[in-house]
Amino acid sequence: MRIMHRYLNSNSHLNVIGPVMKILDEYSHSYKYKEDLNCVIPSFKYNIEFYLYEDNSDFIVLKKKLNEYLEPQVIGTEYDKEDEKNAEWFLIRTGEYQYPQPEKKFVYRESTFNLENYCKFCDIGKVQNNVYRLKSEPKQKQLQFWGLHWEFGAVFVRDVAKKLIEREGVRGVRFTQPVLHKENVKIKDFYQLHIDTVLDKGFNSYNTDTITCRYNNEEGLNKSKENNYCGRIKYHHPFIGGYCFDKNIFNSNFDIVETYEYFGGGGSAQKLQIVSKRFKNLIEKKKLKGLIFIPVMHEEYNHVLNIKNNVVHAKKSRYSNFRIKKNISLIIKRLLKIVD
Ligand SMILES: [Zn+2]
Repeated sequence: MRIMHRYLNSNSHLNVIGPVMKILDEYSHSYKYKEDLNCVIPSFKYNIEFYLYEDNSDFIVLKKKLNEYLEPQVIGTEYDKEDEKNAEWFLIRTGEYQYPQPEKKFVYRESTFNLENYCKFCDIGKVQNNVYRLKSEPKQKQLQFWGLHWEFGAVFVRDVAKKLIEREGVRGVRFTQPVLHKENVKIKDFYQLHIDTVLDKGFNSYNTDTITCRYNNEEGLNKSKENNYCGRIKYHHPFIGGYCFDKNIFNSNFDIVETYEYFGGGGSAQKLQIVSKRFKNLIEKKKLKGLIFIPVMHEEYNHVLNIKNNVVHAKKSRYSNFRIKKNISLIIKRLLKIVD
């Protein structure tokens, strides 16, 4: 596993990019530099992009020097072959291609879920009791696995994937057929994959934030005292060191499960879907497209900066920009504390 700091900067002059290139040249660190002096947007005349990895022996000193001019845009975890080889379980992600219907004012929630136990402040507690409604037939014919905006936990499959899952006797799953919203007809050869097995509690939050649904919470949200906040918790997606779960909550009888815990920021909360190595191998062997596999960790990552990171995925929360900025400045401050 490698921790990557990605820097990307565009500017109308070289006041920042010039000294940054000088530092990188001094340490023979590669970067991409582009200039377009006729660019119609002046602030895009000069561009630089580079990656700094924490396993670089010059990391601390480079970071300190660069920090005078630039902050990374994103800090993230890159998994290597060894992580994949060692992992027994993998989080799965699909792409996001449509909004559940009716999307206006999130009305789909009422038509798709039992909301008795639902809290609109944290998004926890929806129980699906109806099929999803889609605007149009999913166009991505090459994808056997498919997903939605907003409801990241819903996994959809095409016929070939469904047949494979059934043939291989994958336990704890069932299928329903989403419908076209206006026409009210089932979508042909297209199914939602329901995962019935929920893991016990077992997420280790050492490298992320716990968010409580309460007045003025950890994200600085929920400012009105009058509202009835539910008190339940969720976690930001960990950004450095991956997702760490207790090994003992996993059971080899199952190939696909959901987490007990919810993840997300602001008004979004989703359970995560986890599959066995056997499931991953089956999908890869048949070259079925549409899933990303992320190795589940069982050990805490010994981060060089020794900090909590609480940056949420940029696409997954409307608070992401705020969080990223806030957290990167926190990382930098802590880093300098270590260095000085
Ligand atoms: Zn709540």
